[in-house]
Amino acid sequence: MIGTFPATSEVIVIGGGPAGATTATLVAQKGRRVTLFERERFPRFHVGESLIPETFWVLQRLGLLDAMRGSPFIEKHSVQFVNEKGILSEPFYFADHKPEESSRTWQVVRSEFDELMLRNAAEQGVDVHEGTRVLDVLFDGARATGVRIADADGIERTVSADVIVDASGQASMIMSRLGLRAWDPELKKAAIWTYWKGAERGTGRDAGATLVLQLGDKQGWFWYIPLHDGTVSVGVVAGYDYLFKDRPTKDPEAIYFEEIARCPGLGPRIAEAERAGPVRVAKEYSYRSKEVAGDGWVLVGDAFGFLDPLYSSGILLALKSGELAADAITAALDSNDTSAARLGAWGPEYVRGMERMRRLVCEFYEGFNFGRFVKRHPHLKGHVTDLLIGDLFNDRVDEIVAPLEAMRAEAAAG
Ligand SMILES: Cc1cc2nc3c(=O)[nH]c(=O)nc-3n(C[C@H](O)[C@H](O)[C@H](O)COP(=O)(O)OP(=O)(O)OC[C@H]3O[C@@H](n4cnc5c(N)ncnc54)[C@H](O)[C@@H]3O)c2cc1C
Repeated sequence: MIGTFPATSEVIVIGGGPAGATTATLVAQKGRRVTLFERERFPRFHVGESLIPETFWVLQRLGLLDAMRGSPFIEKHSVQFVNEKGILSEPFYFADHKPEESSRTWQVVRSEFDELMLRNAAEQGVDVHEGTRVLDVLFDGARATGVRIADADGIERTVSADVIVDASGQASMIMSRLGLRAWDPELKKAAIWTYWKGAERGTGRDAGATLVLQLGDKQGWFWYIPLHDGTVSVGVVAGYDYLFKDRPTKDPEAIYFEEIARCPGLGPRIAEAERAGPVRVAKEYSYRSKEVAGDGWVLVGDAFGFLDPLYSSGILLALKSGELAADAITAALDSNDTSAARLGAWGPEYVRGMERMRRLVCEFYEGFNFGRFVKRHPHLKGHVTDLLIGDLFNDRVDEIVAPLEAMRAEAAAG
C-alpha cells in the first residue's frame, strides 16, 4: 500500500518505532483497519540496543519470537555492575532467578530490530507508509479526528480516523501540542555515546552481558553493550550540568573522552579498540505526559514518557504500552466508545510499573549499591532481579522498598 493513501482509517498510528509497530500490529490482528505513518524510510539509525527479558511476552503476541530466535542478535543473559574502582560485582543472571527461555533476551542493532518489527506489522495487515511525515494532529474540540500528512514529495493530505495513536517517540507530537509534558525534576541527565570495534567481550553466557560501569567519582556511568555487527555501544550518562555546563569544553567528543579517562572499569576494555562511528548526544529526556489518553487519542512509548537508559527499560515500556493501548483500542472500537476513559484505562497500572523502575533508577543515582543490598538481604535478590528483568507490573516487588529506604537512611546517617 506504500504510496496509496486512504482518506479514512479506523486507527492511525504516528511513528513506526517499537511502540507504534506493536500497537498497530496487535490492533490489526483483531481485524481492524490500521494505517501507520513513519517519516523515515527503514532501516534507520536509533539508539537503545539492549532489551530486557520481559519483552519476550509481547514479542510472542506479535509473532516475532521465531524471527528473534533465528536472528543474528547476541543473546543477553545478565546485567553486570562494575564499581567506581573498576571491580565487577556478582552478575545478575536472569535465568538463575527464573530458569525459563523468557529469561534470556537480546542486544539488538536498532536499525535491524525496528525494521523487523515494522515489516512484521505490514505482514499482519497494517497499512504502512514510510517517508510520510505527520505534520499535525487534527482536533474537533477536544476530540482527535485525524492527521495532516506530507508524503515524500511534500504533497499534503488529510486522513481521518476513530483513534489516533501517538508513537512519535521523543517528538511527542500530541504531548507537545497540548502542553502535557512534565520533565522529571530528579532525572536531568544527558548521554554521549559512540560505537567501538575490537573492544573486549565476555565469553560463554557473558558474551552478551550489559555492563554498567560507574565513573570513578560516581557522577555518572557508562553503558557497555556488545552487538552482533562487531561493535560495542559505549555511552556515558550523567547530570546534564555535569556533562555540559560545569566544564571549559562544550565539545561532546572531548567530554566523552574526558569521561572515559574517569571510568576505571572502561579504559582497559577499549584499550585495543577503534572507534566505529560518530559521537552522538541525547540531551533532553526523562519526562512523562500528564495524560495517557484523551477523546480519540492515546500515547505510547516515548511519546508518553521516557525514564533513563540505566536498566534498558525503554523498549520494554514501548512494547508494554503498545500492548496495553492496543487492547484498550480494540475494546473501545468494539463498544463504539473511544473516549479518554476507555482509551486510557490501562494508564494507572502502567504508570505504577514505570514508577517502580524509576525508583530503582533514582536509587542508583543516589548511590545505591546492588552488591551491598543483596549481601544484606539475600532473600530479596530475586525481587531485584525481577525489576532488572522488567517484571514491573506486580505488587510483589514493592517488598524491597522498606529495606531500600532503611539502607538509604543508614547511609545518610553515616
Ligand atoms: C541515550 C539513550 C540510550 C538508550 N538505551 C536504551 C537501551 O539500551 N535499551 C532500551 O530498551 N531503551 C533504550 N533507550 C530508550 C529507547 O531508545 C526508546 O525508549 C525506544 O526507542 C522508544 O520507542 P518508541 O517506538 O516509543 O520511539 P522511537 O523508537 O523513537 O520511534 C518513533 C518513530 O516515530 C517517527 N516519527 C517521529 N515524528 C514523526 C512524525 N511527525 N511523523 C511520522 N513519524 C514520526 C520516528 O522517525 C521514529 O521512527 C535509550 C534512550 C536513550 C536516549
